[in-house]
Amino acid sequence: MKLRAEFIEKIKKLLVERKNDMTAQLLDIANDKVSDGQVQDSGDEALSLTMETLQNSLQKSEIDELNLINNALMRIENGEYGVCIDCGEPISERRLEHFPYAARCISCQEALEK
Ligand SMILES: [Zn+2]
Repeated sequence: MKLRAEFIEKIKKLLVERKNDMTAQLLDIANDKVSDGQVQDSGDEALSLTMETLQNSLQKSEIDELNLINNALMRIENGEYGVCIDCGEPISERRLEHFPYAARCISCQEALEK
């Protein structure tokens, strides 16, 4: 069964909102560090330092989540969203409601975790 377009739209909106939230939060963290006086230069150097600071500030779980969001958004763009990346079977809407980032169907995910 193919996913309904409006369902995908709903998930996409959710993912984009979550991504924006997280990005804003992470930028806040980075700005805090920057205003602590770690970065004083302007221009490209400051920018790259900011990115470095940002990356250093990130918790691994946050990086993981951002990656999952980006991957899910990419699959939506490619029209591959909701299809298991392992077996190619559709992932149920019920599962996607609970785990919008899910890239695998329940059986493949369970097989992977064993
Ligand atoms: Zn599967």
